[in-house]
Amino acid sequence: MENGAAERWGFRGNQVLDKAASITVRGVLRKVISNLNPQDRRPVITLGQGDPSAFSCFRTAPEAEEAIVDAVRSREFDSYPPDVGVLPARRAIAEYLSTDLPYKLSPDDVYLTVGCGQAIELIIKVLARPGANILLPRPGYAFYEALAAANHLEFRRFDLLPEKVWEVDLEGVKALADENTVAMVIINPGNPCGNVFTHQHLKKVAETARMLGILVIADEVYGHLVFGSNPFVPMGVFGSITPVITLGSISKRWIVPGWRLGWLVTNDPNGILCKSGIVETIVSYLNICADPTSFIQGAVPQIIEKTTDDFFSRIISLLGKTADICFDGLADIPCITCPHKPEGAMSVMVKLNVSLLEDIDDDMDFCMKLSKEESVIILAGFAVGMKNWLRITFATEPPFLEDGIGRIKAFCQRHAKKQ
Ligand SMILES: *Cc1c(COP(=O)(O)O)cnc(C)c1O
Repeated sequence: MENGAAERWGFRGNQVLDKAASITVRGVLRKVISNLNPQDRRPVITLGQGDPSAFSCFRTAPEAEEAIVDAVRSREFDSYPPDVGVLPARRAIAEYLSTDLPYKLSPDDVYLTVGCGQAIELIIKVLARPGANILLPRPGYAFYEALAAANHLEFRRFDLLPEKVWEVDLEGVKALADENTVAMVIINPGNPCGNVFTHQHLKKVAETARMLGILVIADEVYGHLVFGSNPFVPMGVFGSITPVITLGSISKRWIVPGWRLGWLVTNDPNGILCKSGIVETIVSYLNICADPTSFIQGAVPQIIEKTTDDFFSRIISLLGKTADICFDGLADIPCITCPHKPEGAMSVMVKLNVSLLEDIDDDMDFCMKLSKEESVIILAGFAVGMKNWLRITFATEPPFLEDGIGRIKAFCQRHAKKQ
């Protein structure tokens, strides 16, 4: 570059975005991955992010693949889709979600998005009017914080309580909320904790939100992926207590995160979201953003109708098995404690006791050295709001996971403080 060019050109990148994006899980994982030792001949074991689609045992249902082919071949989906999504897909999702609700959703309650990620972006944009604030769980999903920061929406964090099976600290929620609070977010089944909220707890969440006059955003991207004692209860069940906006996608249950098909659904039998103008703003924003690919939308009815229960139960039993391997394997590592066996989703939060280790400063140092010495990638807890915790994703092929847990164990033994 010519000397002085930077002075001549007045443009700059938007640094608000740079700062917001620096808190994403991907950014932290990238750093951990960059510390891998290329000399290590063993395969790299990635337990950092929940995308098991690369493993043959987690391959999606053949019915879903056929649905895509059929949609393309039909030539019915070559045009631009409507901003809110194609009607057959909206109808299929409304029916799919209504089976677990005490009332029926209409296709008009459903808005199609580019994965659940864009549904998060959509609701954050819709709520980000000047002065507003939103309550987010800690630990949580860093995407919410990054998008809130990027859109100048103030966020406040309430705790999930490890000693109470990661339930929401409802007293904390009440203490954080003020007259500018617009919503609280829950993620159920939980990422990163692998917990599944009970019917009773969800009802209390709804009652608390009603008392505060806020809506509940329920991230149910892991909906139905449960393998413990609590069944999956959608937050929409309590939509008549307080308005609920449900976010979801086919990414996790069908193990096709790359297909980028998600939804935002209004669960609001009392019509409060419409009266408050939220629905109007949702439609406004959909007018000016990108849509999910048309033939993926077109395939949705078949994907939902034709996927067999066999597929779902096979995936759930596989996740249950990998959760066991992870929990049992970590149980005999002294510097790691796992407060609860995961009962859903794909990851677990475990506490790291650095005082039992010789030369490890904190969670990030642990992950960086583990990457270098054992070629195992896990996420440092600070990335999801909890310093000196670790998030481990167990949704991988069982032998691979066993190998990974074995290497973590060897690493901890090698770094243990000598008595
Ligand atoms: C994976 C994930 C998402 C994003 O889902 P996509 O459909 O892949 O965009 C949103 N929320 C949580 C909690 C997730 O784990």
